[in-house]
Amino acid sequence: MVIQPTSFCNIDCRYCYLVDRDVHEPMSIDTVRAIRDWLDESGLLGDKVTVCWHAGEPLVLPAAFFAEAFDEFSKLEASGCRVHHSIQTNGTLATDAHCEVFVRHRLNVGISIDGPKFIHDRNRVTRKGAGTFDAANAGLNRFLAHGISVSAISVVSSHTLAHSHAFYDAFVDMRIPVVGLNVEEIEGVNLISYIRSRSDFDAYKDFLRDLLKRSCDDGRVAFREFNHALRSVYRADFEQISSEATPFHIVSFDHFGNFSTFSPELLDQTCEPYGRLQFGNARDVPFSTLETQARYRRVAAEIEAGVERCAQECEYFGVCGGGAPSNKLAEHGTFDCARTDFCDYARKAVFDVVVEAIESDPDLIERASRHGWWNDYVLTD
Ligand code: SF4
Repeated sequence: MVIQPTSFCNIDCRYCYLVDRDVHEPMSIDTVRAIRDWLDESGLLGDKVTVCWHAGEPLVLPAAFFAEAFDEFSKLEASGCRVHHSIQTNGTLATDAHCEVFVRHRLNVGISIDGPKFIHDRNRVTRKGAGTFDAANAGLNRFLAHGISVSAISVVSSHTLAHSHAFYDAFVDMRIPVVGLNVEEIEGVNLISYIRSRSDFDAYKDFLRDLLKRSCDDGRVAFREFNHALRSVYRADFEQISSEATPFHIVSFDHFGNFSTFSPELLDQTCEPYGRLQFGNARDVPFSTLETQARYRRVAAEIEAGVERCAQECEYFGVCGGGAPSNKLAEHGTFDCARTDFCDYARKAVFDVVVEAIESDPDLIERASRHGWWNDYVLTD
């Protein structure tokens, strides 16, 4: 589950695509209860659910909100479902009170940091245009001081590509052991990447090659994208489905309790001919009614057709599973399509760089397998 406890964000990153990031309307505990009850009655729960608190900036809400919200969700455990919470934050508003709640509930914190200060501060800025690295780093140090496990999501912009080693060293210095790479996407809900020319693409692959080599050599930082590609090569039981293209693998709720599924980005999006890509509110549209909702059925069928097209047309289908509907929609105006620019850099380039490195450097995997991340993220999910 992805829950947006507010659409408001206290900073104003230059590449942000959130439409309502100026609207300050926090989620109420009544809405948290409605979401929990919706989930409980849905029949979707297995033995574990992960709740990710994300987008706008969740730590705009006070620690007391999270303490109460986590207590409400823990009631699901009575029916045998373990609840694991994570949070994705810019770090700038973290307090000791937040940390104490997070420690109590064993949260994983994902912090959004774009590498070293000279890169981070170009795009991750306040509404007055000032850099936010120092405040984010202070938040990070607060999490670490409380013993909280922290990973990072880092947006890679064109400026980042020439600084692969400074980028890697920054995460070593910040003591962040796992990083996810998001390539900057340009303009509002139009998720088109700046990596469109041949030279940008070559520079991006060189950037990936440097990070992979550093990661395998010294093992101090692992990257989500490489871990996934390595899993696909080294795990006999690897089977890829796209969570974002599978109905109700991910359920996303906004601060009013409105919900969507498939890519979390769809929650805020509107498109022809469907209008808003939300399928109801936790208070009045139970999961059991969705199969009879015409709009949901048409969206689900179009996404399924797109995945089928991927299976027919794309040689990377086995490691991708059919991609991200939000990117298909943004780039082609329909879910019923296959290749996107997003495929090229987020899937194919990563996989190609990993396979090329394995083939050209016979000791690479031997070196990688000495590091903790090999067991933690390649051999284990
Ligand atoms: S890489 Fe792109 S075209 Fe290939 S399976 Fe994934 S989404 Fe489909």
